[in-house]
Amino acid sequence: MSYDPSNIFAKILRGEIPSKPVYESDHVLAFPDIAPRAPVHVLIIPKGAYVSAQDFSEKASPAEKAAFFDAIGAIAQQFGIADSGYRLIANTGAHGHQEVPHFHLHLIGGRALGSMLP
Ligand code: C5P
Repeated sequence: MSYDPSNIFAKILRGEIPSKPVYESDHVLAFPDIAPRAPVHVLIIPKGAYVSAQDFSEKASPAEKAAFFDAIGAIAQQFGIADSGYRLIANTGAHGHQEVPHFHLHLIGGRALGSMLP
């Protein structure tokens, strides 16, 4: 699937739609999910134009990938859930029920989340 620059997260990255970033680096932006499912629900996105986790895995540079994992730990620390734990979800493609076609990782925590695997 080719990248559609009209997706909502691309508009956030371009500043066309306001967001309240909680973390930003050269390669990464993170902001609260508009419909939080837990006390902490942050979306972490690459600044590069990647459709999905698959696209990011195949095409992102080592620096972009490293920056992405750096963001996870930093945000968990920032929200005080590094020790209590959290869940990372990357809905990917049709079977993964991905709604926004710009790669994003849900970082969810702040309460016990229970079992989730299908
Ligand atoms: O299923 P998927 O992982 O693509 O979900 C997209 C997420 O983006 C949803 O959790 C939705 O609440 C969030 N979203 C948002 N801000 C928007 C549009 C969607 O936080 N403007």
